[in-house]
Amino acid sequence: MILPIVAYGDPVLKKKASDISQDYPNLDVLLENMFETMYNAYGVGLAAPQIGLPIRLFLVDTSPFADDEVLSAEEALILKNFKRVFINAKITEEEGEEWAFNEGCLSIPDVREDVLRPPKITIEYQDENFTSYTETFEGLIARVIQHEYDHIEGILFTDKLSGFKKRLLKSKLTNISKGKISVDYKMRFPNKKKKR
Ligand SMILES: [Zn+2]
Repeated sequence: MILPIVAYGDPVLKKKASDISQDYPNLDVLLENMFETMYNAYGVGLAAPQIGLPIRLFLVDTSPFADDEVLSAEEALILKNFKRVFINAKITEEEGEEWAFNEGCLSIPDVREDVLRPPKITIEYQDENFTSYTETFEGLIARVIQHEYDHIEGILFTDKLSGFKKRLLKSKLTNISKGKISVDYKMRFPNKKKKR
């Protein structure tokens, strides 16, 4: 089932999300719905707060990046096969010199901006079977994980922009929160006026 994606301005996107336990109800159905919702919107990641749930859960599937012609065959293959569920994640280390990448977000349609982040991360997390991992990721995979991880910390990529960029985007973001935007997937807008 495709779920509505929560738009910019909803308080759930500003909340630090909580850990979940193995007995979280209907987790398999939730994961299936979240993957379907992400693919329907052509996303490479989706975090639970984006469908209205303040829990520490996000999905990543970097396969759409594999078609980028600047990548080596080896890099393309890694991106093509990277599909993962992250539960109760905690980034324990970020390393290297920050690099810029043009990010977008399913909760903030039609806004793309360069965001600086370190290239390498170490993250502790559990998968959908609650098996624990500690792994290090780099490059685009790290980038997508950092973006989704920020969602469970209540941070949006627009929060990381300069004050000048934020001011330039302000009216556009207000319009998104009101649903004054054309978007081809299902969304829920916090400040949309009810029709009567
Ligand atoms: Zn996002």
